Amino acid sequence: MADPQSPDARLAALRDRLDHAAGLAGRAPGAVTLIAVSKTIAPEAITPLIAAGQRVFGENRVQEAQAKWPALREATPDCRLHLVGQLQSNKADEAVRLFDAIHAVDRPSLVAALARAMDKAGRRPDCFVQVNIGEEPQKGGVALADLPALLAEARAAALPVIGLMAVPPADREPAPYFALLAKLARDHGLAGLSMGMSGDFETAALLGATHVRIGTALFGARG
Ligand SMILES: *Cc1c(COP(=O)(O)O)cnc(C)c1O
Repeated sequence: MADPQSPDARLAALRDRLDHAAGLAGRAPGAVTLIAVSKTIAPEAITPLIAAGQRVFGENRVQEAQAKWPALREATPDCRLHLVGQLQSNKADEAVRLFDAIHAVDRPSLVAALARAMDKAGRRPDCFVQVNIGEEPQKGGVALADLPALLAEARAAALPVIGLMAVPPADREPAPYFALLAKLARDHGLAGLSMGMSGDFETAALLGATHVRIGTALFGARG
């Protein structure tokens, strides 16, 4: 039997749990994109996962991703890279050049900076608008009340917004927040739903996640 701690075994077990949860909601295997969040993880620990077939990765810092990913991608050009963390407007150019998707669009100034950066670079990564779904003051994401206006600005700026993203409050049952995010996405005609992390991805998949962002369950605890 394969070592249960090997990257192959971890990835297979996770994919299994993900497809099972999606299946309970009548969704096809593979309906949910697994983003392997490799922030703080060294390239030597990422390559075994690439060898096991994983192709979609997430990072939360532009600089760290710039240091790690050009070489990894040269070796495996079909790797896709998602930015899952906060983005400062002054890093929009670098982010647009490096990432295939950006998950934390949450304010008008960033919409404007990304639109300019995309025009300049001639490349348009998929965008998710992050919603502060639990209305937590310390958290990123647009306030629920401001979501319609921000989406209108993003559309006016021709930002390719494909969905919504959220991180529910840490100390609460996540299902109601996932259900609320799914309803907001439906209301606004958006198909993408980036929700669910190591501790709650099955619930998220059951409630319609199209992208789950998983770090510790794949790579182990971050140092
Ligand atoms: C770190 C991070 C994740 C992954 O978290 P785990 O609990 O390690 O799976 C997902 N989403 C965002 C936005 C993150 O910053």
